[in-house]
Amino acid sequence: MAKTVAIVGAGPAGLMAAEFLSQYNYEIHIFEQMPSAARKFLMAGKTGLNISHAEPLKQFIARYDQSAWLQAGIEQFNAKAIQAWMTGLGIESYVGSSGRIFPVEMKAAPLLRAWLKRLADTGVRFHYRHRCTALTRNTLTFEQQPSQCFDAIVLACGAVSWSRLGSDGAWQKWLKSSDIQPFMPSNAGVEYKWSEFMQPVFGQPLKRIEAWVDPHYKAQGDIVITHYGLESGVVYKLNRQLREQDMTLTLDLLPDLTIDDLVKKLKPNKKQSMANTWRKAGLDSAKANLIREIIAKEIWQHPEQLAQIIKQLKIELKCFRPIEEAISCAGGVRSDVLTKQLQLKSNPHVFCCGEMLNWDAPTGGYLLTACFSTGRTAAQGVHDYLKTK
Ligand SMILES: Cc1cc2nc3c(=O)[nH]c(=O)nc-3n(C[C@H](O)[C@H](O)[C@H](O)COP(=O)(O)OP(=O)(O)OC[C@H]3O[C@@H](n4cnc5c(N)ncnc54)[C@H](O)[C@@H]3O)c2cc1C
Repeated sequence: MAKTVAIVGAGPAGLMAAEFLSQYNYEIHIFEQMPSAARKFLMAGKTGLNISHAEPLKQFIARYDQSAWLQAGIEQFNAKAIQAWMTGLGIESYVGSSGRIFPVEMKAAPLLRAWLKRLADTGVRFHYRHRCTALTRNTLTFEQQPSQCFDAIVLACGAVSWSRLGSDGAWQKWLKSSDIQPFMPSNAGVEYKWSEFMQPVFGQPLKRIEAWVDPHYKAQGDIVITHYGLESGVVYKLNRQLREQDMTLTLDLLPDLTIDDLVKKLKPNKKQSMANTWRKAGLDSAKANLIREIIAKEIWQHPEQLAQIIKQLKIELKCFRPIEEAISCAGGVRSDVLTKQLQLKSNPHVFCCGEMLNWDAPTGGYLLTACFSTGRTAAQGVHDYLKTK
């Protein structure tokens, strides 16, 4: 009789674990509490599914905070392998000018449809609306269905953001709290209490700025001013440092100008207003409002002092946006409670994968790549474990 494997969670990590195991003779059951699969993956596809990144592997791996842990899996299922896998599902992909990889159609739905069909064709059994409520050794308890025993169990339950899409973190009760690094928002906006004066520039970008927490790592691009604070890929890139070092963000509002050039451009001129001088220096309305909001009025008419601050404008941020809104989460099941094959040391029947593990990365395709590769690593672990049983 075929051995049985339960996978809890039909997100990208769980589906990838099922796909890997489906090449062997196992009875594979996927339990998903939502009425359909991979809702967060579909959401990721709404703004263009950035599935991986084409940069050299060494650079790619360095994007993760827990790179040593993830490296072997990502080397095996890297960006090229992901593109080949998509082609196998009939989905063409392309590498954008930034190196990011997308499906040509940009959406996740066609890929997911083809993927689910292939899994079902290979005999994987899907059980939707099956909410798992407890895990004891090799037994899963469900909200409304009888408990079931399995030869192995893969947990692929996701982290804790966007809980309405399924990843509600209820699985944390099944493990010891010391096994889990507390979850924190990642790839999230940051909060700052603006005065009413900033309202006219809500939604406007601070264009082509340079931002840093630690001057050794500067991120370039646009940051959007929002009613709650600041948001953009540049902010996401600095999330880890903000979280781990200090909530002070420093901005160079005009990185293309030297301080000397800027001082010259900011010199008061009797023929034009201060607003015009600033605009001609390159300070559009978003940047000008930010300066007026943060820099004391007495300094506005002093080009030397003002230029220094514009090149190093410090913003003392309050906190991150709530974790529920974050694109991903830092924290999760700690690497030291798992084997290299992502098997729980305290319960060898159980393997973990995907965003529920304690790793963090910026957006850019790194999140899904880690979910896919850890799904495969856990599945390989299940196979090796069941071979010896
Ligand atoms: C708006 C947005 C945009 C994003 N864009 C990108 C992007 O472009 N590129 C990128 O790389 N990443 C992106 N991400 C992140 C990416 O979608 C996630 O990292 C990924 O979906 C996590 O996969 P997972 O399988 O680990 O978990 P999830 O996708 O969260 O799946 C976990 C599944 O487990 C199920 N589950 C949980 N608990 C139980 C239970 N007790 N019983 C049964 N089922 C359960 C859930 O319902 C869910 O379906 C984006 C995320 C968001 C929110």
